[in-house]
Amino acid sequence: MQQIPNYGDQRTLEFCAFCRGETGTRDHCPSKVFLDEPYPENLPVVPACRNGNSGFSADEEYLACLLSCTLAGSTYPEALPRKKTKRILETKPALRELIEQSRSEVGGRTTHEPIRDRVVSVLTKLAKGHALYELHESCTHDPDELEFGPLKLMSPQQREFFETPEFSSCWPEIGSRAMQRLLVQGANTFALGWIEVQSDRYRYLASLGNGIEVRIVIDEYLACFARWE
Ligand SMILES: [Zn+2]
Repeated sequence: MQQIPNYGDQRTLEFCAFCRGETGTRDHCPSKVFLDEPYPENLPVVPACRNGNSGFSADEEYLACLLSCTLAGSTYPEALPRKKTKRILETKPALRELIEQSRSEVGGRTTHEPIRDRVVSVLTKLAKGHALYELHESCTHDPDELEFGPLKLMSPQQREFFETPEFSSCWPEIGSRAMQRLLVQGANTFALGWIEVQSDRYRYLASLGNGIEVRIVIDEYLACFARWE
């Protein structure tokens, strides 16, 4: 990934990106469990407290494996499309069992019903990290709006809204990475493109539209839209 330094107010970075608590470590955002090796260079990192850094690992592993199982239509590690999730499920039979139990057949298709709280917790964390890294906006409370679901179940209108950020005359903070991307693009309205962290694995878009908005797509399957007013 292109590395863009942050020239924004350093005080924003003195706190954990997720709870505004004391920082002491740095966390990759997105977490590496959503990416395959070899990892892209210059992965975004944000300041985090110890809990922010490690407290989400189990939920993140759960979501990464759930997505792999859903894409494969199976919880058999051999069937999974990603080496990483295959390895996790091989070594964690309880996690595999948990996902297996959520299996259901809908119209001849195998799906896995997500545990909503765990998915919300991970997506909220990721969205907060992207807002801080890109926009230099510290969103430590839960988003006012958080929606998620399979990309392919969106209507054409929903898909267009999701893929194309609204134009806004509201500019990102001076010095933030978003502002620098904007200056490089020479645009006079704030319309930033998607940032592809890894092809087919993870992309996101952070923008100031109707508030602070973060869009995320994982595995080109799960879409998430988070907004802070
Ligand atoms: Zn924290």
